[in-house]
Amino acid sequence: MVDIKELKNNLFCPKKNLYLKISDEEFEKTQNFAENYKKFLDFSKTERKSVEYFVKKAKKNGFEEFDLDKKYNPGDRIFRINRGKSVVFAIIGKNNSREGFNIAVSHIDSPRIDLKPNPIYENNEMVFFKTHYYGGIKKYQWTAIPLALYGKIILKNQDSIEISIGENESEPCFYISDLLPHLAREQMSKSMSKAIEGESLNILIGSLPFKSDTGSELVKLNILKILNEKYGIIERDLSFAELELVPAFKSRDIGFDRSLIGGYGHDDRCCAFPAFEAILNTKNPEKTCVVMLADKEEIGSDGNTGMKSSFFRYFLADLASIDGIKTRHALSKSRALSADVDAAFDPNYSSSFDSINSSFINRGVVITKYTGSGGKAGASDASAEFIGYVRKIFEDNNVNYQLGELGKVDTGGGGTVAKYIANLNIDVVDVGIPVLSMHSPFEVISKLDLYEMFKAVRAFFG
Ligand code: MN
Ligand code: MN
Repeated sequence: MVDIKELKNNLFCPKKNLYLKISDEEFEKTQNFAENYKKFLDFSKTERKSVEYFVKKAKKNGFEEFDLDKKYNPGDRIFRINRGKSVVFAIIGKNNSREGFNIAVSHIDSPRIDLKPNPIYENNEMVFFKTHYYGGIKKYQWTAIPLALYGKIILKNQDSIEISIGENESEPCFYISDLLPHLAREQMSKSMSKAIEGESLNILIGSLPFKSDTGSELVKLNILKILNEKYGIIERDLSFAELELVPAFKSRDIGFDRSLIGGYGHDDRCCAFPAFEAILNTKNPEKTCVVMLADKEEIGSDGNTGMKSSFFRYFLADLASIDGIKTRHALSKSRALSADVDAAFDPNYSSSFDSINSSFINRGVVITKYTGSGGKAGASDASAEFIGYVRKIFEDNNVNYQLGELGKVDTGGGGTVAKYIANLNIDVVDVGIPVLSMHSPFEVISKLDLYEMFKAVRAFFG
């Protein structure tokens, strides 16, 4: 008599919630990892803050700034910062660079609201900042929530001023207003993309006038007086700056069972953090391993801190030069994980997903062979050989994984930095964490998947 259950077990793909199979000991590890991640996430709301966090921790763990005049040996740990907004870490391997590098790339920028170059204005005795949103957002989600302001201002004398205000409860926060439902009949009848216009994402920053019987723009004057007293700046200085609004919430456990984490910027800090932890926990690798944490992914990876810039290639060239070999020979043998998130299947919006080819929370990291839109346009479609290689590494090291793609065919689409890595003639595939409510101010991931991401990159580094 054929045992159907056993036969199915042997032949079918496992599709199991990881909570059903992990040990108590492993469970404990996932919880501790999640607590550390939440602390990181609360500190690192912008790419600059992420770089600051990672570099500080790396230095404590033996990483030194890459010095071209220094001789490096296997096991040495180095990093290079790109303009304070992206950073790359490496550990020199035992093998010659001719055998290639093992690389993980994530991005540390997230969708947010940037200030325009001439931001401040008064309207009907309220003062606002004009903004230009950064990345793909659903604008209505960013109204009526507390926002924190981060960034950097460069003064004429070239001194720089760092701004961080709105995170601590003792500090004020900022706000984009929305129309009350009573008067929103017209707004509510518009399509979601039109209901809140980009030009109405104005940040409320004050309402207290400077006490005077004469003069106009007295609220703006009072705000500028406060800014001048606190930071020593004048209105013109706000133009020579990068100032960004992000949600002022802290990350929180979600659910009675606390199995999930809600937070701003999981995309893609929930992959950057495990990738970084993986290189911290790697000692004396066979091949040189590299963790690249990039900026500008959310706006197409352009600019000198994005993955289309030569910064990454130059760094790899300098690594290859340690062994005196040509960059192209090292790159052609290199392998990479594009460690970025994927859309988790959401039962509330099931019609946008192909449930047979979606990633699910609590089932481990998702291998995404290709991204893109329409007929895979713009995708770096990983080869069978390479995903076959990744599968072996994951299975040999007990990494729980699933395979999926981003939603139903022709419902939209998206891309990652995989194609820019592939352009360097490196084998690459996307491996990441399924996220609910991606690009919203408060995204959700699973604690188990987060830990599997750490295991995945750690295993990949060998
Ligand atoms: Mn991403
Ligand atoms: Mn994204």
